[in-house]
Parts: sequence; C-alpha cells; structure tokens
Amino acid sequence: MVLAAIPGPLPAEMIALADSLGRVLAADVLAATDLPPWDNSAMDGYAIRAEDVAGAAESAPVLLRVAGEVAAGSASETVVLRGLALRIATGAPLPPGADAVVAVEQTTPLTPDGSAGPRGREATGPLPARIRVHEATQRGRNVRRRASDLRLGRTVLEAGRAIGPAELAIIAAGGVARVTVHARPRVAVLSTGDELRRAGSDLGPAGIPDSNGPALVALCAAAGADARHLGIAPDRLEPTLELLRSAVVDADLVIVSGGVSVGPYDVVRGAFAQVGTVDLWRAAIQPGKPFAFGTAPRGEPAAGKPGQNANTLRTGERAGPPVLLFGLPGNPVSVFVTFEVFVRPALRRLAGRALDALLRPVDVAVLEDSVTKSIGRRAFLRVAALRDPDTGAPVRDASGRVRVVLAGGQESHQLSALAAADGLAVVPESVTSLPAGAGVELWWLDRP
Ligand code: AMP
Ligand code: MG
Repeated sequence: MVLAAIPGPLPAEMIALADSLGRVLAADVLAATDLPPWDNSAMDGYAIRAEDVAGAAESAPVLLRVAGEVAAGSASETVVLRGLALRIATGAPLPPGADAVVAVEQTTPLTPDGSAGPRGREATGPLPARIRVHEATQRGRNVRRRASDLRLGRTVLEAGRAIGPAELAIIAAGGVARVTVHARPRVAVLSTGDELRRAGSDLGPAGIPDSNGPALVALCAAAGADARHLGIAPDRLEPTLELLRSAVVDADLVIVSGGVSVGPYDVVRGAFAQVGTVDLWRAAIQPGKPFAFGTAPRGEPAAGKPGQNANTLRTGERAGPPVLLFGLPGNPVSVFVTFEVFVRPALRRLAGRALDALLRPVDVAVLEDSVTKSIGRRAFLRVAALRDPDTGAPVRDASGRVRVVLAGGQESHQLSALAAADGLAVVPESVTSLPAGAGVELWWLDRP
C-alpha cells in the first residue's frame, strides 16, 4: 500500500558531480571524451617499433638510439623511426611511429661513451643516449588503446543507477562534471509526547529524553533523504495538527512518532485524518504494531508563515503527488523496525532507486537462541552475528548460514539490544516459538 501511494520518483535536477554521492541518475550519462583520449603507455619504459626488437633475447640484446622522451601530460611530435626509442612515462601519449612500449626493466641504459648502467635502471635518471633491449615484443604491447575504457557519446551509466564512489569515478573519467539525478526526498520528523524532553535537558519527575527525533533524522539521512526535526508536540490535537500542517507545505514525507496507539492521548491518527487520510492502521509485525499510514494533499503555506523548508518547493510541485504520512509507534525499537519495513523503501522509491532495490538484501542465518513470540505477527528480532576473533568477519555454519544470537533484551523500549545488533532476524507470523538452531531470514543493518 505504501509503494502504491507513490506515483514515481521525485523530479530530476542537475547537480555538480561532486555533490552526487548517494543520488540516483534520472538520465543516462554519456561520455564527453574517449578514454583514454589517445593511445598511451601502460608502463614506464621506451616507446619503440616492435619490428626493431623482433630478434631481441636475453643473450642477444638489440641496441636502440634514444631520441628524446615523453612525460605524462605532454605529447611528443618526434617520430619513432627505425632504430629509435623514446623514453616514455606511464600514461603519456604514444609518439608517432611507435607501436609498442618496452618496460624499463627489460632495458639497459648506455651512456654516450658506451658504458652500460645497471639493468633496468629506473626511468628517472638522465636520459641515456642508447639502450639495450633484452626481450622481443609484439605490436600493441604495453599500449593502452584509445577508447579502450569509454567511447565518446556512448552511455557510461544508465538512468536508475545509484551513484557510489566507483560510479562517481567513471562519470568524472568520462569528462562529465554535472549529472541529472532525482531530488533528495525531504522529510519532516515530529516527536509527540508530554513526557519528552530534548536529550540533555532536565527530565524532572516524569520526563524521558526524545530519542526518536534524532534517530529518525539519522535514519533518513542514511537512507538518502534530507530530514528536519520539527520538534516535540504535546499530546493534544491542536498543536500536533499545527505542526503537521506546516510540514505538508514542503515535505515529501512526514514521520510522526508516538501517539498513534489506542490511549486517550493518542491524537496522531486524528491529526492525519484532518490534513489527509489514514489508509492503514496496525501492522501484523512485532515490534511495531501501532503503525499508521496515510497521505495528504500538499498544503498551502499559512499567511505570513513559510513552510519548514521555505523556498525549496520544486517547480510545479503544489499540484504534485500527495505527501506521505507515517505514524510510527513511540517505542524506540518499534520506530527502527517500522522505519526499516515501511519508510526506508518509500524513501528509496522517491529517490529513484529501482523497484528491486528498495528492500534490504536478505541473508540466511541460524539463530543460536530459542525465542518465543506472538502468533499472527511477523517478528523482527535484534540479533548479533558471531564473529571470528581474528578477522571480525561474521561466522557461518557448514551450510553458509550466519550464526546469530539475540543482541539483548527484545522488548520494544530496549535500545541497548538494537545498538548491539548487526541485523534483524525475521520470524514468520505463523509460529509462536523457534528452537535454538532454527533457520531465519536476516536483514543486515547499516553499521557505522
Ligand atoms: P506512545 O506510542 O506515544 O504510547 O509511546 C510509547 C512509548 O514510547 C512510551 O513509553 C513513550 O514514552 C515512548 N516514546 C514515545 N516517543 C518517544 C521518543 N520520541 N523518544 C523516546 N521514547 C519515546
Ligand atoms: Mg505518547
């Protein structure tokens, strides 16, 4: 239902390549150059004509005259005629006439008086007058052909590809400085609860620190979205509604935590129903049952009051797709689980990720603890992988399953188990218990 409410990825924008890490391409990237742009040397050595050294061998070196040199970043016009060699650096353009490069290690430099230096002397010393070449070679040897990596005008990366460091590298190598990518989703985060205080402030007799606010902003950032925390709303409809109305002006997605259950102070669903709809309430998962999802039309800014991300509205967006409303439970572990299950895929969809790349990759694990759970709810247990003490790598059993244990107490307020967890073990809704040694599905979580 969540994904069905999203008509497609956010609009495209053109940005500097340097700012594009984590973005998803909205258009193919075409190479603006051949790469390499010209034939060049793969070695420090001598540019030669292969036929000149056809008879060279360890016992019968061939003598060539060194007619100059080509450094990286300069092109030589000296033609390599028969019997000549040009000293060449790795990456320097192959000079005209040459058709191969002999590595410096296969040569001996000779000084003008004819005395031989040590074999394979590095190509940094004074330019020798002549060299001995100790091995035969073929045409094209140690030459990197023009366009052997990228070809001008051809597709370097296709639309839909997410940009990581390797993608950034190949786009830059293609001579492209700006890319067309989907916009980053904008998220407004709201904590609700009379008991909440900003972390670090005095808790008084009945306060607790707001951990969901900071956690959700971080979860959104890790999922490639820009989130802002609107603050803490008390457990009353009016102030919650006011913050929600300001959020739907320019956020693509709103996440409210707490106040979505059945208590007398749980006003969030009522607030959603006033700005939009509640399409879904309660999910058969554990933890995270009190979960609500709905949509709202994009709001008009109140007179004199700009939206939370004032001036950032994209062109034509007032009439655009609805704003997604997520009401997550208040318990901090439930927040993480419902974010993983419902919000992260939605953010990745908005950001332009392919439909088959919305969910976490699934691994298989063997649970070394026994567990009990509620019938009819799919459980997401916080588990830690056993690790090799020397390498830190997760340990797998003979059938390749990751060996995992419960990472700590599994109640929905117990953040310590979440912080100790490597992933979520998924236990089907059809069972009430699992013995130690049972196989489970494992979702690895991002670790810092
Ligand atoms: P609620 O869903 O509002 O009934 O809250 C369920 C539990 O989560 C209560 O124990 C709340 O105190 C706690 N809780 C709600 N919001 C937060 C928050 N932002 N940070 C930490 N704990 C919270
Ligand atoms: Mg509450």
